[in-house]
Amino acid sequence: MIPSQTGGIETIRKIVRELAAQATFMKERIAIVGSGFLGLTLAKRLADAGHKVTIFESAPEIGGLASVWEINGIVWDRHYHVVLASDRHTRNIIEEIGLGDDFKWVETKTGFYTDGELLSMSDTKEFLTFPALDLISKLRLGATIFFASKIKNWKKLEKVTVQEWLTKMSGKKTFEKMWKPLLKAKLGEAYRETAASFIWATIQRMYSARNSGMKREMFGYVKGGYGRVLGRFNDVLLDRGVEIRLNSKVDKIERLANGKIRVTPVSARRHKDIKPKVQKTKYAAFEAAVAVAPGFSGAFLSEPQHSSTVVDFPENTGSQLFDKVIVTAPSNVAEKMLPQLDEREKKQLRNIKYQGIVCASVMMRCSLSKYYVTNITDDTPFTGIIEMSAIVDKREFDGNALVYLPRYIAPDDELFDKTDDEIERYFLNGLERMYPHFRRQDVVAFKISRVRQVFPVPVLHYHEGLPDMRSSVDGVYIVNSSHIVNGTLNINETVQLAERFFEQEFSA
Ligand SMILES: Cc1cc2nc3c(=O)[nH]c(=O)nc-3n(C[C@H](O)[C@H](O)[C@H](O)COP(=O)(O)OP(=O)(O)OC[C@H]3O[C@@H](n4cnc5c(N)ncnc54)[C@H](O)[C@@H]3O)c2cc1C
Repeated sequence: MIPSQTGGIETIRKIVRELAAQATFMKERIAIVGSGFLGLTLAKRLADAGHKVTIFESAPEIGGLASVWEINGIVWDRHYHVVLASDRHTRNIIEEIGLGDDFKWVETKTGFYTDGELLSMSDTKEFLTFPALDLISKLRLGATIFFASKIKNWKKLEKVTVQEWLTKMSGKKTFEKMWKPLLKAKLGEAYRETAASFIWATIQRMYSARNSGMKREMFGYVKGGYGRVLGRFNDVLLDRGVEIRLNSKVDKIERLANGKIRVTPVSARRHKDIKPKVQKTKYAAFEAAVAVAPGFSGAFLSEPQHSSTVVDFPENTGSQLFDKVIVTAPSNVAEKMLPQLDEREKKQLRNIKYQGIVCASVMMRCSLSKYYVTNITDDTPFTGIIEMSAIVDKREFDGNALVYLPRYIAPDDELFDKTDDEIERYFLNGLERMYPHFRRQDVVAFKISRVRQVFPVPVLHYHEGLPDMRSSVDGVYIVNSSHIVNGTLNINETVQLAERFFEQEFSA
C-alpha cells in the first residue's frame, strides 16, 4: 500500500514537473527580425506552438520583398509575383490563412526579344521555328534543359561554373547568343563566378511547374494580389497575440549574462528622420483600391481590422528582452547586428555576395504585349519585361496595364544612385525603342523600387561556406534566403525554409 502511494505521488510530481517544464517552454519570448514571408511563416508556426512572438520590421509595412505599394490609386505588389501550381508550400500557407479559394489560374505566354524583334516562345513549335538559332543549336539547347531536369545530385554542379557547364552542354554559339544574355539579365557580371547549380535550380522549377498536373505554364495569383494575402496574414498573427513592430530597424542584438537576449532598434532620434507611414493608411488605401476595381466581390472589405495592436513609431522604441531571436534579414545586415558572433562566422556572413534590383512598376493605358514574361537577349536598360496584366484581370488596375521593368544589378551599381526621373527617362527610352506602338503619353504612373540585397549569388562550392542557422551566439538564429541552397528565390522556397527551420529547432 505504502510503496504504491509513494509511487503515485512521485508520478504526480513527475507530471507536474513535466507540465511546468512544458509551460516554461511554451512561454518562450521569441523575437523575429524581418516580416518577409520567412518571418511571417515562422511567427505563425511559433505562435501556434504557444510562444509569445514579437516581429521587428524596419519598413513601415510587412511583407519585405513581397510587400505592396500604391500606384495610381491601386495597391499592388511592389515586385511582380506569381504562384506556380507546383508551389505546394505557398499554396498551403495561403490556404491556412483562409485564402485558398481565391487563387486565379491563368495560362501564360512567353516572349523573346532578340535581334530587335519580339517573338513568341510559348510552345515546342515556336521553339523549333525560333530564327535566332540554327536547328542543331536548338536541339543542343533542348537537350541541355532536358538533361538538367533529370540531374538529382546538384552538389556536383556546385563545382563547375555555369558558363563552363552550359558551354559544354549547349555549345559556344548557343551560350553566347542565348544563355549568356539570360544569365547576365539575372546575375550581371556575377554570372562568371556563379555555379552551374543555379541553372539547374531554375530548370527544375520550370519543370516542376509543367509536371504539376495543370495545363502547361499556368500561373496563379490571389485576387487582390499580395496586399490581400499580407492583410490577412497580419490579422491572423494579431489574433494569435503576435506583436508586430513596424518602423523598428534592429541595430543590435546581444546575449546578456543572465541568458536573455536584448534586441535594440535604432534610437528614436534617428527614427524620427525616417517619417514612417502608418500601416492603417496603407490598408485603408488598399480597401479603397479594391472598392474602385469593378469585378471584385468586395467580400474582404468587411474583414476585421486589427491595426490597433500593430505598434508604430514612435511608441515603444526601447530595447526588449527575449529568450530567443531569429534574424531573417540578409546575412551582411545580420552580421552587423551581432557583435558577439565569432570571427569565423562573421567572415562567412560577410562573404555571402548579394545581387540587387532596380524594378520599375509602370501603369499604362495600353498593353505592351500578350506575354507575361518577355526575355531579352539584346542590350536594353532593363533585363526583362513582366506584364502583370497579361495574367491579372485589368479591372484590378482600373482598366490599365501594369508592367514591371526589372534590372538586376550588383549592390554597388551606380544605377542605385540615379534619381527617379533619370531612371524613368532611361527605361522609357528603352520601351520606345522596343515597341513601336508604345507612347509616353500612355504612362499614367511610374514607380521605382530599389533593393540592394535580393538574393545571394550561388558561387562555386556555395553551400560549403554557409554558416549554420544556429549562430555562435546561444539562442540567436540567422535564417535567410542564403539557406536556399538548391533552389531559386521564390516564396515557395522561403516558406519551405521556414518550415524546415521550425521543425529542426522548435518542434518538440
Ligand atoms: C523582383 C522580384 C520578383 C519576385 N517574383 C516572385 C514570384 O513571382 N514568385 C515567388 O514565389 N517569389 C518571387 N520573388 C521572391 C520572393 O519575394 C521572396 O522569396 C520572399 O519575399 C523572401 O522573403 P524573406 O522573408 O526571406 O525576405 P524579405 O522579404 O527580404 O524579408 C526580410 C525583411 O527583413 C527586414 N529587415 C532587414 N533588416 C532589418 C533590420 N535591421 N531590422 C528589422 N527588419 C529588417 C526587411 O525590411 C524585410 O521586410 C520575387 C522577388 C523579387 C525581388
